[in-house]
Amino acid sequence: MTTKSEIEKRLKSSKSFCLLPWLHLNINSNGSVNPCCETTDLFKIGNLENKTFEELANSPRLVEMRKKMLKGESCEECHYCKVLEDNGFPSKRVLETRELSEFGDIVEETNPDGTLNEFKLRYLDIRFSNQCNLSCRTCRPVASTGWYSDAKFLGMDHFGYKVQKPTKDNIILWEQIDKHLNHFEKIYFAGGEPVLQDDHYILLDKLIDQNKNDVSLFYTTNFSTLIYRNYDCVEYWNKFKSVTLGVSLDGMGAQGELIRKGLKWSDAESNLKRLKKECPHVKVIITSTVSSLNILHLLDFYEAWINEEKIEPENISIDLVRQPEIYSIQIFPKEVKEEISKIYSDRIENVFKNIPNSESLVAKLESIIQFMNEDDLSDKFSSFKKMTHVLDNLRGESYKELFPEMENFLK
Ligand code: SF4
Repeated sequence: MTTKSEIEKRLKSSKSFCLLPWLHLNINSNGSVNPCCETTDLFKIGNLENKTFEELANSPRLVEMRKKMLKGESCEECHYCKVLEDNGFPSKRVLETRELSEFGDIVEETNPDGTLNEFKLRYLDIRFSNQCNLSCRTCRPVASTGWYSDAKFLGMDHFGYKVQKPTKDNIILWEQIDKHLNHFEKIYFAGGEPVLQDDHYILLDKLIDQNKNDVSLFYTTNFSTLIYRNYDCVEYWNKFKSVTLGVSLDGMGAQGELIRKGLKWSDAESNLKRLKKECPHVKVIITSTVSSLNILHLLDFYEAWINEEKIEPENISIDLVRQPEIYSIQIFPKEVKEEISKIYSDRIENVFKNIPNSESLVAKLESIIQFMNEDDLSDKFSSFKKMTHVLDNLRGESYKELFPEMENFLK
């Protein structure tokens, strides 16, 4: 019997061990399946169109990952977790393994060749479609239908059609989900925008019908709405014990609206108010996408929202852009990075360290700078400036006007 403390021991003694290859699948809106959402497109393990969950769990890549992890060897698929850990961020590897440690028994049941005789999907990461009402600058058509017309106009890959679903025939998807519904402990909904997807509510209804209200729900949501057709998220979430929203807000007011095109800032603020009043058990975490667009503005956003008591500093999380690469904060030339590093140091010292309970936020802000300086992608800087200009023209916006603190850096 593998106890929680044994899993903790494995975590401490190995920099590669992670429970997800035993308990989890990440299903993308185009049907491709990954070991988890931190692994890139290069590391798909198959497609839901022609593979069952069991076949995916015993796919050559996942089997190999398990074998390597049991030997304490690192997996190339897990590069991003390593980058996060090396930069002082909590990684998905550590967080999810701890959270799911009570199901660690399965590790002992691994066959010598890395396969599993019985796969129970404890943690489902599902993107039912790329349907989304926003066209955020840092997003892409593969993750948002909102991007379709701009991508088409710009001659980018827009996949020739607008809406993607994991399987052409929904019955195939539901057959797989229904088979594992009783095993679920945690579900992560992302998209597209999950609250705008009928299948999201169909799955919640199935859980409610089977009294599985103790399944933890986790979302990445753009927070533009809590209502879709006849569905009201607040009514649903009040039926579940544990709901966490990773709210994708990258800036406040007009700046937030420019980065997340289509968002009405007043809607995000009123949704927050409504949640606090009508379902206070729902945990809201501001999960900002940290990009070359908002690296400085984020400091103002966090300071203002903490001062206005809209968010607690420990409930701010960050997500560093890796793709599209032009929005990575590593694209800035050396002299710009030096200026940005200095601004961060000053603000951390003079503002954030003086805020109660801000230790984890301070560590995250310091890690942003560490990450920015770790690699040089400055050959992408001119592409970033060009794309910013092109999108400004196409969307009738002016990045420089709304982000004057960046103007000198973009000359
Ligand atoms: S170590 Fe990280 S990248 Fe690898 S499976 Fe676990 S969470 Fe995913």
